[in-house]
Amino acid sequence: MNIHEYQGKAILKGFGAPVSAGAPALSVEEAVAAAKTLPGPVYVVKSQIHAGGRGKGKFQGLPADAKGGVRLAKSIDEVAAFAQEMLGRTLVTEQTGPAGKQVNRLYIEDGSDIAKEFYLSMLVDRETSRVAFVVSTEGGMDIEKVAHDAPEKIVTFSVDPATGAMAHHGRKVAQTLGLTGDLAKQAEKLVAQLYTAFVSTDMAMLEINPLVVTKQSELRCLDAKVTFDTNALYRHQELLKLRDLTEEDAKEIEASKYDLNYIALEGTIGCMVNGAGLAMATMDIIKLYGATPANFLDVGGGATKEKVAAAFKIITSDPNVKGILVNIFGGIMRCDVVAEGVVAAVREVGLAVPLVVRLEGTNVELGKKIISESGLNVVPADNLDDAAQKIVKATAKKEAA
Ligand code: GDP
Ligand code: MG
Repeated sequence: MNIHEYQGKAILKGFGAPVSAGAPALSVEEAVAAAKTLPGPVYVVKSQIHAGGRGKGKFQGLPADAKGGVRLAKSIDEVAAFAQEMLGRTLVTEQTGPAGKQVNRLYIEDGSDIAKEFYLSMLVDRETSRVAFVVSTEGGMDIEKVAHDAPEKIVTFSVDPATGAMAHHGRKVAQTLGLTGDLAKQAEKLVAQLYTAFVSTDMAMLEINPLVVTKQSELRCLDAKVTFDTNALYRHQELLKLRDLTEEDAKEIEASKYDLNYIALEGTIGCMVNGAGLAMATMDIIKLYGATPANFLDVGGGATKEKVAAAFKIITSDPNVKGILVNIFGGIMRCDVVAEGVVAAVREVGLAVPLVVRLEGTNVELGKKIISESGLNVVPADNLDDAAQKIVKATAKKEAA
């Protein structure tokens, strides 16, 4: 689960990490009120969307030379003018894709006098099974570009969970960033605070780009991108409140209501499968035959007819879907339950695209019978290879027609 920058900063602040003063705003009035609580004379007006690269982003409908989604305002009037221009407008950044994201919230922050910008992030490193720090002097820019052009400028180390963050980790960060004296001490403190924040809230990733040194010689987190480990969210009910549904795919939200493992993708073949491994194999074989999957979906083991029907409706609600492939290997999941769910969903919402069904395993005969007696226009398939070829062919034919 992702959260907004201002929410991430509030969490970091709770662990003592240095962030600027600021307040979120949903309207121009709130932006002005927020700015009035800050000392000034410089304010930062920041678009809150779940994507990075906002500073260099472009707003749709504004001239090409207009400023991006993070702007320095030199007066309260300028805060109001920027808020007016940004709210409700779509911001396109390197991370949003060409469609962009609508800006519905702003964060008004006390402006910092920046002396230097660094990069610091933390993630769960699968190789070492530890939390790792990634640090670089090259902050404020695209870290992927730094990794490509100057990999020696990125320093990575991981922390032993038995000891947690230690003074030497802090010293390593300070040394990497060329910080000495009091700033080195600040870095040591920050590393300990960030590690505690990361572990105690079960983050999957924390990216501070930039981490800055101000002209007043203070280390400060100027940006914060936080991702929580969804599997651990049940331990953090208070974090669930930070979820912003307007930032998420409507189909994925609907799927999460039914506890379905659904990820929206860009292709044209909707997939309903049980088991993550089989779902991936199904996606692979669709690609092998020249089409692309519209989603990943694992309906899970003991799914009910209602859950199957919900899954099917989510797939058909996607306007990109030109054909559907149901591939079920019944074990705990019974083929008759799948068949009943599919039939119920089609009765309710209709079926405008070709549907290929491959059933195998527990109660397969009953499942096939339910489908054939339903009168639905279903193309049966005998195995996965056959099913994939049939759905790719059926959608190609439909597109050509
Ligand atoms: P991003 O573009 O989405 O990564 O948004 P950031 O929060 O990183 O802001 C983009 C850039 O705006 C930063 O890299 C800074 O250079 C600049 N910026 C952000 N806050 C301030 C500030 O308080 N003062 C100054 N001078 N620049 C800032
Ligand atoms: Mg940034």
